[in-house]
Amino acid sequence: MTTLQPPVRADGKLPLITADKVNKHFGQFHVIRDVSSHFYQGEVTVIIGASGSGKSTFLRMLNRLETHDSGTIVIDGIELNHNLKNIDAVRREVGMVFQSFNLFPHLTVLDNITLAPRRLRNMTRAQANVVAMDLLGKVGLAEHAHKYPHQMSGGQQQRVAIARSLAMQPKVMLFDEPTSALDPEMIKEVLDVMKDLARSGMTMIVVTHEMGFAREVADRVIFFEKGQILHEAPPEEFFGECGNERISAFLGKIG
Ligand code: ADP
Ligand code: MG
Repeated sequence: MTTLQPPVRADGKLPLITADKVNKHFGQFHVIRDVSSHFYQGEVTVIIGASGSGKSTFLRMLNRLETHDSGTIVIDGIELNHNLKNIDAVRREVGMVFQSFNLFPHLTVLDNITLAPRRLRNMTRAQANVVAMDLLGKVGLAEHAHKYPHQMSGGQQQRVAIARSLAMQPKVMLFDEPTSALDPEMIKEVLDVMKDLARSGMTMIVVTHEMGFAREVADRVIFFEKGQILHEAPPEEFFGECGNERISAFLGKIG
């Protein structure tokens, strides 16, 4: 068991996720290097950094799509280790949305959303449908429940993917470049759904290059470089300081 004592913040909130000196290699390549951070309940964290800096790998470790080699990851009191029961429990609590929406092509929107709750949360079809229709309303797609993914735009599919994750009632949502595969006119509709989710109090970790989103809704911005957290700060501070040359160079490139 972990002996980490999570710090309680002044507002009484506890970290939902704690990473402590986490390391990961792919063969000889040291992809994540001693990463430590706390992610608090209700906090929105945006992670930025150059391609290849380890952002996706870090997110994937948080729901055990990748294993870490050393260090500790604790999510809502559950330590991620080789205990399969822990992994199942964590997967139920951690939702993830990918760049490529990954909807099941042979299922309708409604069935895409209700599949996991029916199988893993033991909901009846009727119960799961009620939850799904409510979520589809929230992402602005109530009219599209009976369509198949290929009948929808990329932005609509990504909103379905978000609704599908939310149907499992996760405690935290991870987003890995959720708008990178979208045409510009569809980016806003997905970011708007994510902003609503942030305002509803969801704990979110978002890898994105959408700096407007970071400024508007992030509580904290983390800059990854070569598998390490080079810098982290609230957005007003992060974007305000030009002190760090590597960060300003990066922001200049994407901005
Ligand atoms: P980012 O999301 O910041 O672009 P990634 O976490 O995807 O970075 O990748 C970090 C580095 O790890 C890259 O050099 C990538 O090529 C490498 N990498 C990622 N996944 C694997 C894997 N499954 N096997 C080997 N190398 C990988
Ligand atoms: Mg990535």
